[in-house]
Formats: sequence, C-alpha cells, structure tokens
Amino acid sequence: QEQLSLVEKDRQNVWHHISPYVEKSPPMIWAKGEGAWVTDHEGNRYLDGMSGLWCVNVGYGREELAKAAYDQMKELCYVPMTQGHEPAIELAAKLNEWLDDDYQIFYSNSGSDANEVAFKIARQYHQQNGEASRYKFISRYRAYHGGSMGALAATGQALRKYKYEPLSPGFLHTAPPDNYRRPKGMSVEDYNIMCAEEIEQKIIWEQKETIAGVIMEPLITGGGILIPDPVYVQKVQEICNKHGVLLIIDEVICGFGRTGRKFGHQNFGIKPDIVTMAKGLTSAYLPLSVTAVRKDIYEKFKDSAENSHFRHVNTFGGNPAACAVALKNLEIIEREGLVERADRHGERLRKELAHLADHPYVGDVRGIGFLLGIEMVEDKETREPAAAARVGKIIADCKANGLIVGKNGDTVAGYNNIVTLSPPLACTDEDVDFIISVMKKVFEENK
Ligand code: PMP
Repeated sequence: QEQLSLVEKDRQNVWHHISPYVEKSPPMIWAKGEGAWVTDHEGNRYLDGMSGLWCVNVGYGREELAKAAYDQMKELCYVPMTQGHEPAIELAAKLNEWLDDDYQIFYSNSGSDANEVAFKIARQYHQQNGEASRYKFISRYRAYHGGSMGALAATGQALRKYKYEPLSPGFLHTAPPDNYRRPKGMSVEDYNIMCAEEIEQKIIWEQKETIAGVIMEPLITGGGILIPDPVYVQKVQEICNKHGVLLIIDEVICGFGRTGRKFGHQNFGIKPDIVTMAKGLTSAYLPLSVTAVRKDIYEKFKDSAENSHFRHVNTFGGNPAACAVALKNLEIIEREGLVERADRHGERLRKELAHLADHPYVGDVRGIGFLLGIEMVEDKETREPAAAARVGKIIADCKANGLIVGKNGDTVAGYNNIVTLSPPLACTDEDVDFIISVMKKVFEENK
C-alpha cells in the first residue's frame, strides 16, 4: 500500500459518508484549512461555503483552539463525567450565560447523542412526574435530528430511514411550515398557525397522556432552510405548555451564532424545556455535545433514591480537552463579535443575492443570519422542484470557481433542490465579496 497514491489508498480503504465512490469525481482530500478557506492535497483552494457540515463557525486553523486542547491534554486528558473537572464546570456556567436562563448541562459527543439523551430524559421525567404513559415524540417532516436509531426515528426524511427500519417506535411527524409552498391565497401567518395546530391535533388524536415531547430545530436547516414565522414557534411552545409536553429545541446547527443570535430560538422569544447542541459548540475542533435541561425538570432527578438516577453514561462525553476547546471557542466568538458579524454578513448576502429570485430557475431566496437557501425550480409558476442535474450543475460550477456550497431538502419528496450557504461566521468582508461574485457568475452562466 505504501506505493499507492493517496487517492488510490482512499479508494481502497475508506468508506465515505453517503456518497459512493465515483470514479470520475473522487472525494476531495482536504489537506489544510485557514480562515474560511480549505486546500486539497493537490493545492487547490476553496472557500468553504458550508463550514464543513455547518460547524466550523470560527473558521479553520485557529492556533488558540489547538493550544487549548494541547494544554488541557497535558494537564489532564480524561475524567469520567460521573466525576467533575474545571473546563466542564466553567463551560456549563458559560452556556447558561449564553442561554440567558438556568439549565443543567449534560455532556456527550455528537448531535445524535445529545438528542438521544433528550429523549431519555424526557421519558424518565414524565415517569417521575407520575405520567409514565408519556413516551411519544412529535417532530417534523424534512427535519434531520441524527443517525442513531432514536434520532433517526425523529428525523423526517424518508430516504435516510426506510432501509434501516424498524427504528425506535413512538415517533410521529407533522408538516413544517414551508412558506414558499404554502397554499395559494393563504397568509403566512394563518398558514403558520395552521401548521402549529397540526401539532396540537396530533397531540389530541394520539391522546395527550401518551406524548412526551416535541423536538424541532428553531428553523429547519438541512431539510431546506425553512424559516417559520415567529407565530409558529410561539404557538408550538404554547401548545406544549398547555398539554404538559416538553419542548426540545435542536440547536445543533442553529446554535452559536449561525442565525445572528447566540441560539436560533432566541429569534423567536421562546424558552425551551431542553436544548441540544453540538457542531458549533467547539467549531468542530473536537467532538462535544450538550443536552441542556431546564432546572425544574432536572430537579425531578435529584432525589437520592436509586430509582431517580438518570441511567446514561457516555465514556467520552465532556472530555476535558473538548470542553477547554469549547470555552476558548466561545471566547473567540465573543471577542471577535462573530454573532453580530453573522448578522451583518448575512444581510449583505441577502441584499446582494436577492436579484437571483428573478433567475428563470430560482423560485425563492431566503435566509436568516449567515444562512442562505436558494430554492431552484423547473417552473416558477408550478414551482416544480428543479431537476437534480440542474441543481448539481450549480454546485459543480461553484466548486470549479473555488466555492463549496451545499444542496439540501428532502430527496424522496423531490425537494432536494435548495442550494445552501452556511459559511464560517469569521469570514472577512473580502470572503463575502468572493462568495457573492461566484454566486452571481454561476447563476448568470446557468440561465
Ligand atoms: N441535529 C441536527 C439539526 C443536525 O443537523 C445534525 C447533523 N447534521 C444532528 C442533529 C446530528 O449531529 P451529529 O452528526 O453530530 O450526530
């Protein structure tokens, strides 16, 4: 194997996520990252318009983060989280500052983990509250909540699921508000209220005594950048409160500045019962995730009786180096004003690219913070989703011009047609210029 090129070794040994190995366009082999830019093993540079998988919020090559990990590993590399350590304690306090509320912080490694923990806590909470019959969760079609059996059951994208069924039982779905595709003649507000009421209907028809929680992102990201009207999110919270159902907010992508607020739900003025976080928590320099649980829920687990222990151990969760990196990451975001910068960059992006709505194959341009979705259609009148080849050509042309962009939606329903931008929050003004110029050029050339 020593004689083989890196590409050949890759082909022979690595099973890449999702994409099969395509001979003509093998996966890019990334070699280095700096700021918003990544370089492949042949020296080609790209601006990473997706921050990896929506996670490298402070950008690549931050020596401060490498040093935080190094210093912590030298001092103390591991602590089981049945015990404690300073970075985990300081990080939990810092997260409460960011959440602007009082939560108890449970650590694990990935977004999927954090959601599984949320489901288990919610079920046990209801049991300890004398409502053991509450075990079901409601989530939305088009949402993604992770790849493990519970998080995948909560996920509402059929193609990701159907080959792996049966998944964890007890997960139900409703339609998320998709304002661009709302019924003709209906106002955005009425439509959003209707979508929220679908959740209430589900709770009632399933018998509210069986419902443990609702899980949702503040806005659907991977399912196609579906930004609800605030009335939807507020109404869902109201419905949950009314029926004794816990509201779990998945901030795995929306958290840590992406939407122009510290957390996505802060755009909508709600107070979730449980908040899950991962990705941008460490800007992906090390794996770490959090399930933040409102104090009064946590109180139910504080009884010294064996029976009320939360039986969940996770070997690597709350790793000291990962917590030290997360703390430094939050410090960088604050020091450099990256949350505010996300808002400013996003506003520019939306302003400069708004005219793409006139493109013959663009149906809708939408965004919040430094997150943009361009929904492509075959026909602006019928809104038929654009063919995969048409969307693929845009993605490929962006890459040929040095810009990595994403493609999101839900393949089964034919809506895998949303070109997505979610660049590092730490982009410079010149980086944003570059993104805008490539997007304009590529769409112009694909009229
Ligand atoms: N929730 C959301 C909203 C996500 O986008 C993802 C990952 N893309 C997850 C959960 C799962 O996170 P992980 O891949 O770290 O398990």
